[in-house]
Amino acid sequence: MRDSGKITGNGSGAVRTDQARVIPPGSTVGILGGGQLGRMMALAGSAMGYRFVALDPAEDGPCAQVADSIAAGYDDREAARELASRADVITYEFENVDAGVAAMLAEQSYVPQGSELLYTTQHRLREKRAIEAAGARVAPYEEISSEAVLREACGRLGLPAVLKTATGGYDGKGQWVIRSEAEIPAAYAELSRSGAELVLEQFVSFRMELSVIAARSSLGEVKTFPAAENIHIDNILHLSVVPARVPAAVLEEAERLAVRIAEGLEVVGLIAVELFLTEEGELFVNELAPRPHNSGHYTMEACRTSQFEQHVRAVCGLPLGDAGLMSPVVMVNVLGQHVEPLVSHLSRFDGEAARLGAVPKLHLYGKAEAKPNRKMGHVNVLAPDTAAALEWIRGTGVWS
Ligand code: AMP
Repeated sequence: MRDSGKITGNGSGAVRTDQARVIPPGSTVGILGGGQLGRMMALAGSAMGYRFVALDPAEDGPCAQVADSIAAGYDDREAARELASRADVITYEFENVDAGVAAMLAEQSYVPQGSELLYTTQHRLREKRAIEAAGARVAPYEEISSEAVLREACGRLGLPAVLKTATGGYDGKGQWVIRSEAEIPAAYAELSRSGAELVLEQFVSFRMELSVIAARSSLGEVKTFPAAENIHIDNILHLSVVPARVPAAVLEEAERLAVRIAEGLEVVGLIAVELFLTEEGELFVNELAPRPHNSGHYTMEACRTSQFEQHVRAVCGLPLGDAGLMSPVVMVNVLGQHVEPLVSHLSRFDGEAARLGAVPKLHLYGKAEAKPNRKMGHVNVLAPDTAAALEWIRGTGVWS
């Protein structure tokens, strides 16, 4: 990027006027991936006047129900070329996009996010180094190349420690919490089977998990959404509570770190920054996702601009929207096993909601089969405070 043409931004970095390419409403946005994130992006962007076309192997996936679609594999170059020819700008809704396809698309169309950020966030070791270079901390870690190295690293980092594959893991898959030396051979055998590189992380006994979603536009403007307090069950996000129940200084620091990372990695679009807050009040970055994030779904009704609208604004070179919070909110994920009881609950008059002042907003993603633990939707529960929202969620009995 050239340095000329800078104007002052919103206090969190400089806005560039030279590189800016504005993709105006009425243009077509191409999305690599056609899951729920693509669907919600298309719904938000359609309201702004954009058209969408998604490339996804599924014929009738969440995004294909609300946008044009091309049903083909992500590594199908012919299909990728078609996407490029139909779109004025291309974005992605998941991070494991084939780097070759991303590079080819960048040649044939406009991919403001580039492929470098994908390259970084597709690999835990590269990602950790980039986070550190941006001035944020990660839990102490070591690269693991053999069982002997793992044994030595366990000695240095102490047990418990978390062994992770550097690529391909999500929702806790590709991980092993090593609690005793006796587990080392089994952990190494299991995780090295995939052939992926491995990383060992010190176990952080965190007080809370937080996330901050930052948006950086193709002009360099940066804005963050309020930090969310995230509660997982079986490694799958269950609740996002906003405002997070920690002192304001912690939230400000979390948002500062997200800005530093968005700027340091020259992000365009969204970057979700997942953090651990320790008992001592320190913040460690756990991982990044260069796309809309499950822990940002609360923004859909609770913020002046949703993460999906913000993403479209960022990649299309529009000014970013106000990310301010309009109401306390708790987002609760709807997994396969929750759909039936929840829909039945929401189909009846809800005196509890009226009593608590809770306003549950249901989002379903249009997935055909409600398999256990499959993410089918979410509910954003707006309420006078997060305690009332949590009480409503408990009272439904759906998630017990
Ligand atoms: P990840 O796939 O890295 O997001 O990890 C999934 C979940 O495992 C996190 O949300 C944490 O709850 C837990 N976890 C991951 N890494 C660590 C760590 N170093 N220390 C403690 N818990 C961890």
